[in-house]
Amino acid sequence: MNIVIMGPPGVGKGTQAEAIMAERHVAYIATGTILRGAVQEGNELGLQVAALMAAGELVPDHLMMEIIKERLLRPDARDGWLLDGFPRTAPQADGLLALLDGIGQRIDRVLVLDAPDDEIVRRLGGRLTCRACGHVTNLQRVGGPPTACSTCGKDALYTRDDDSEETIRRRLEVFRERTWPAAERLGERSALVRIDGRGTPAEVKQRIAGVL
Ligand code: ADP
Ligand code: ZN
Repeated sequence: MNIVIMGPPGVGKGTQAEAIMAERHVAYIATGTILRGAVQEGNELGLQVAALMAAGELVPDHLMMEIIKERLLRPDARDGWLLDGFPRTAPQADGLLALLDGIGQRIDRVLVLDAPDDEIVRRLGGRLTCRACGHVTNLQRVGGPPTACSTCGKDALYTRDDDSEETIRRRLEVFRERTWPAAERLGERSALVRIDGRGTPAEVKQRIAGVL
């Protein structure tokens, strides 16, 4: 099954993606994680995107298309994938649809998670990300700062550069202006389902299970 999960930052995409992955053997492709890996490595791509990401701005479409093309053509993506964080603009959506047409694939489900801005800002304010595996921990949920990642056990939790309040507001704005049109594009060709992202991860997971 080929799934695209979309939604504003902090709505819980990554958490739900992990839950979907626990039940389906598909390739998990999260562009934010790929980009942060490049920044951490300090390679050419990383140098090009670091400042944009820290400001909550989008990485240029042509770079994103190169990344996604290379990734979708790898052997492990042949038997299904879950895309998280891509597409984020209408041109990326069109580029993805053309790419998939070219390799004889299609999107089976588009999941759009949404929640009110206030809830998102509150959640992101308490978010810690694991530098080693990408797992996200929410301080409001665990009640007190954890020292190690609950997924990989490493002591590598940090607050992302782009999780400051100002940047969060900007990322939300970018989502509403630029990513909604991308979702609409995909919805013209595939089954798009809107999911209420409020409540606990388990509640949201139930909603998703009901539509997959
Ligand atoms: P979140 O959903 O929490 O905002 P991501 O980890 O998906 O975060 O993305 C972090 C940042 O990486 C984005 O704010 C943007 O700068 C960059 N990025 C990720 N995916 C894309 C994309 N498809 N197009 C452009 N920029 C992207
Ligand atoms: Zn980890």
